[in-house]
Amino acid sequence: QAKFKLTLEVPSELVALSNMPVGNATFAGPIKTVRYLESPPMSTYLVAIVVGLFEYVEGMTTKGTRVRVYTQIGKSNQGKFALDVGVKSLNLYKDYFDTPFPLPKLDMVAIPDFAAGAMENYGLVTYREVALLFDDKSSSASSRQSVAITVAHELAHQWFGNLVTMEWWTHLWLNEGFATWVSHLAVDSFFPQWNIWTQFLDSTTTALRLDSLEASHPIEVEIHHASEVDQIFDAISYDKGASVIRMLQSYLGAERFQKAMASYMKKYAYSNAKTEDLWAVLEKETGEPVKDLMTTWTKQKGYPVINAKIKGNDIEIEQAQFLLDGSSGSGMWIVPLTSRCGAYDTEKKLLLKLKREKLVIGSQCGDRKKGGNFWTKLNIDGTGFYRVKYDDELAAALQNALETKKLSLMDKIGIVDDLYALSIARQQTFASLLHLLYGYRGEADYSVLSHINTVTTSIAKISADATPALAGDIKQLLIKILLSPAEKLGWDPKKGESHLDVMLRPLLLTALVQLGHGKTINEGVRRFNIFTRDRGTSLLPPDTRKAAYLAVMQNVSSSNRSGYDALRKIYKESAEGEERLQ
Ligand SMILES: [Zn+2]
Repeated sequence: QAKFKLTLEVPSELVALSNMPVGNATFAGPIKTVRYLESPPMSTYLVAIVVGLFEYVEGMTTKGTRVRVYTQIGKSNQGKFALDVGVKSLNLYKDYFDTPFPLPKLDMVAIPDFAAGAMENYGLVTYREVALLFDDKSSSASSRQSVAITVAHELAHQWFGNLVTMEWWTHLWLNEGFATWVSHLAVDSFFPQWNIWTQFLDSTTTALRLDSLEASHPIEVEIHHASEVDQIFDAISYDKGASVIRMLQSYLGAERFQKAMASYMKKYAYSNAKTEDLWAVLEKETGEPVKDLMTTWTKQKGYPVINAKIKGNDIEIEQAQFLLDGSSGSGMWIVPLTSRCGAYDTEKKLLLKLKREKLVIGSQCGDRKKGGNFWTKLNIDGTGFYRVKYDDELAAALQNALETKKLSLMDKIGIVDDLYALSIARQQTFASLLHLLYGYRGEADYSVLSHINTVTTSIAKISADATPALAGDIKQLLIKILLSPAEKLGWDPKKGESHLDVMLRPLLLTALVQLGHGKTINEGVRRFNIFTRDRGTSLLPPDTRKAAYLAVMQNVSSSNRSGYDALRKIYKESAEGEERLQ
C-alpha cells in the first residue's frame, strides 16, 4: 500500500473527481489544475479519476461523511435511491466492523459506458448506469433490489478489500465472497420485507451447479500473474465464496463471527492479509477449528452429497463427493451438519469429520407409523454448501411435511434443488422429482417459485429432447404448478402489494409464456399491441414488459415478422439501459 497525491489538468468546465477531496484548484483560461488531498495508504488498483459532465445528489452519514451520487446531466433524481442505500450502508458497516469509514468523502458515479457492473475504487466507486440508477417510472422492482445489493457490495469493499487488502490475487475469493455475503446482511437490515437471505439461495444453487462439474476449480487458486485474474471473477469466487462464508458464520454464530471480523479489521487496517490470517483471528476469538474446517472448502473443488438413511432411532450419515455426471469423486470435507426433526425448535448440530457418522434422533421427530407426523430435514435453511440424499422413508416424510406446510421457505428450496441435481446425476428418478414438484402447487412465495421455475424450465427442455412423446404432458403438469399463483396476481399491479409479489408477477408470466401457455401468450400479445400505439399505457408497466415481449416472439416466424419488427423499433427508441435489456 502507498499514499497517493494526485494533480489533474483538465478542461475548466468539467467535473474532475478522484479518491480524495479537492485540496485546491487554479484556473488558467480553458484549463484548470486540480490538486487532491493526500490519501491514506492504499492499493494501486483502487486509484481512480473520473472527468466529465455530471450533476449530483448529496447526503450525509451519522458521522458526517459526505456521500454523493454523480449522474449524467438530467438524471440525478435517479440517483436518490442509491444515495439512500449508500448512506445507510456506511452507517451499518461502521458498526459491523467497529471501524469508521476511512476516507473524508464517498462519491458514487453512474458511467454510461462501463465494462464491469461496478468497481469499488476507494472513495470513488464507479458503476454501470443500470447498477446505480433507479427510476420510479421506467425501472422494475428487481432492478431496485439489484441496485441495493450492488451498492451494499461495493461499499463493503471500502473496508473489506480497501482498508484491508488481500495480499495477492489468490485471495480474491475472500474479497468477493465476503462482500457478497455481507451485502445481503446489509440489505436484509434495510429491507427485511425482501426476504433477501431466501433469495441468496439463488447464489448458493448457482455455485452448487457449477461446482458439481469435473472442470470446476477450488475457490482459492494459485494466481501466478495479475493478468490471469480475470479468469477467476466467476460464480465460484463470488457465490461459492459467499456461501461458505454463510456456512461458517452460521456454524460460529452471528455475534462471535461479527466480533472476530471487527478484530480482523483493526489488526490489518492499512495493510494486507491472507485467507489464513482471517482464519487465525476467527480461531483465536472462537476456539473453533476454523482453519482445518475451511481449508477443506477453499482449497479443493467440489462438495459432498450427504446420504441419509434411517436405522432405528439413528440416521446413518455418509459423505461422498457429488458430481453431476453421476460419477463419484474422492473429495472429503469437514461438514458443519445441521438437522431438524418434527418441528423447527429441535435443531441439532454435528461437525462431520469422517466418511460415516450417526445422528441420534430419538423419539422427538414425531410418529413414524403410517400416517404419522414424523419428518427430519438436514442442512437447515440451506446454510451448508452440500446436498442431501434421503432414503425412501425420509423422502416420503419430507414430502408429507412439505404438503402439510411444515417447512421453511429456504428448506422448500433446498429439497427441490437437491432432488433436481440428484436426478440429473441419475442418483434419483425423474418420476420422483415430478412427484415432489407436484407438492408445490399452491405455493405463493417468490423465492420458492423462482427455484421451481428454474427446475421446471430445465425439465421442459430435457423432456423435449429425451421423451418427446411425453413433453406435452410434462408441460401441462408444470403449467398446473405455476398457473394458480399467476392467476391470483394477474397482469396488473395492485395498490399496496409487496415487493416480492411485484417481482413474482413477471417471473410467472414469463415462465408460462415459455411453457407455451396459450391464454398467457394471447394476453401478452394483446397488451403489447396496445403498448405499440401508446407507450404510456398502464397495461404494460416495466415489470411485465419482458413477458409480453417473449409472448410476441412466440408468434414470430420468417413469414410473420411484424412482432419482431415492432420489438426492434422499441429497442432502438429506448434511451434507458434497463428497457433495452428487457
Ligand atoms: Zn466485489
